[in-house]
Amino acid sequence: MLGVKNPNLTGINGQDRFSLTRFLAWFLFFFYFSGVHQTIIYSSGIAGFFGITQALVMSLLWLVPVMLFPARGKLIAGIAGVVLWASSLFSMGYLALYHQDFSQSVIFIIFESNWAESSEFLHSYFAWWMLPALAVYTLIPWLIWRRLQPIGGTPVTRLLLTFTICLAVCWPMLDRVIINKESLANGFSEQVNSMEPVAPWQLVMGYVKYSQALSNAENRLLASDKPPLEGLVDSNADTPSTLVLVIGESTNSRRMGIYGYYRDTTPRLAAMSDDLLVFDQVYASRPYTVESLEQALSFADQLQPKLHLEKPTLVDVMKQAGYRTYWITNQQTQTQRNTLLTTFSKQADEQVYLNNNRSQNSAQYDEVVFRPFADLLNRSESKKFILVHLIGTHRAYRYRYPDTFKIFNDNEDLPPWVRKKRHRREYNEFDNSIVYNDFVVASLIEQMKKSGQNGYLVYFADHGEEVYDYPNRLFAGRNEAAPTPAMYSVPFLVWRSESWKRNNRIDVSYDTTHRMYSLSDFFHTWMDLAGIRFSGFDPGKSIISRRYTPGPVLIGNPAKPEALVDVRQKFFPTAATTLPGPEVLRSSTPGYRPEYGVVTGTVPVRDRWMLHP
Ligand SMILES: [Zn+2]
Repeated sequence: MLGVKNPNLTGINGQDRFSLTRFLAWFLFFFYFSGVHQTIIYSSGIAGFFGITQALVMSLLWLVPVMLFPARGKLIAGIAGVVLWASSLFSMGYLALYHQDFSQSVIFIIFESNWAESSEFLHSYFAWWMLPALAVYTLIPWLIWRRLQPIGGTPVTRLLLTFTICLAVCWPMLDRVIINKESLANGFSEQVNSMEPVAPWQLVMGYVKYSQALSNAENRLLASDKPPLEGLVDSNADTPSTLVLVIGESTNSRRMGIYGYYRDTTPRLAAMSDDLLVFDQVYASRPYTVESLEQALSFADQLQPKLHLEKPTLVDVMKQAGYRTYWITNQQTQTQRNTLLTTFSKQADEQVYLNNNRSQNSAQYDEVVFRPFADLLNRSESKKFILVHLIGTHRAYRYRYPDTFKIFNDNEDLPPWVRKKRHRREYNEFDNSIVYNDFVVASLIEQMKKSGQNGYLVYFADHGEEVYDYPNRLFAGRNEAAPTPAMYSVPFLVWRSESWKRNNRIDVSYDTTHRMYSLSDFFHTWMDLAGIRFSGFDPGKSIISRRYTPGPVLIGNPAKPEALVDVRQKFFPTAATTLPGPEVLRSSTPGYRPEYGVVTGTVPVRDRWMLHP
């Protein structure tokens, strides 16, 4: 039926008459690239009918050039088709991997991560069925395109149709501006919202919004006229001190031996555990690097997510307190695009960018930070703040450690549900990357200790990572829409020098290290550890404070406040309602064993007590 010439409609005065059938064939061609995606989304109940309606209306737009330049119609459709096809692959791919609609926040996360990261990502999610699926998805529009015939009609007919289409496409804006007498800006934003579900506008609008947000953030973060914190007092002001913050990457604490994981993935940290405070109930607020760190390193949190742009950040405050600030990073920095994290690093007095590889896959192991770290420790400034940002256990895991750290290769002690060859390999590789990360973090602590400087070192990871941790749902990676404890549980360790311990006492009882804590409140813990006070300091948000108050540990996208959920209800609903008996307190059962049925995510017995102090 498609594109078949109807002999009754042709041949009058040597010119084709308008053919509705052919018109529909052209329309079908353009609608295909958004329609397939939106139809799947709608029929699987992921979202409502709005997307299909918008795809129907907005796909009309491509018919305008076809009707204005009928002689070049097929060429125009071909070029537009390739663009639409390519951009629709993003949303189709996202749907295949995550079973979700492609949203604005997903686009932000894509633009924040670099292309190397994306290719690693695709590599690890690739499945054989995707190739034939892609072939069929591509073949259908090509077949339609081949059979497209001129729509026909007089110039007047085509102009009238063009006008009608423009009216329909721009209706969201016209409705606001002309009918409801609202501002042009309101009309424009309504237009953007209507076009968002449709290829290629999801990407175009997403990029425009992202660039605006980024340059706005850059201006705010690096503004020199930012008002300093009021009432700042540093109780160590007269003492030389070196404070170190090591930020890891994608490390689920429940896969670390020091947190009770059944494999010994942290031999070095375990050996020095007497010198460490090991906090075991710390959760990232977001499962993505920038989104998590912009809260951890500032006043911002899940309820006030923009405060990093309005108030001084952690680096700002350290500078205000008289510290010389350094930022060492082994995360990739040499991309043309600036990410928000690079802007954060520019707040420091000096930066050491170590990972200049174009590809994050090249073996640029975290031990490259040792030398610049040693150099900075030797600097003569009496007050130093050094931030070390590691690539940690970011996927692809096998690129994170040298061969000497291939510790787990066998499959004998794997959880029974990790059966597929690729799953077994990745499971082992992730554990190996944690063993290497253990070596890196422990070495940094050793370096700090040997330097004999007065101060402390804190290590945490920006968020967790799920690597086939749960039997009923085999998944590797992170997904904010389907959160699991593995994606949010982060290691959080504090090492302090003897002199620092003497002068800055912390009441470290059993309870302290088992406190429920959101990494988004880290700013207050850091200032408390440093002995820095200011008006607005909240001891309730400091994990080490005597006045710590357990609050909700919220996860989810703060752009949708109604969707925020407390970790306790989400991950441990039974624990949150079970009242402890005295025998629970005495139990020494290790928390995470394969025989529990899940590797991670089971609440250790002692923490059930902790949830009800
Ligand atoms: Zn991250």
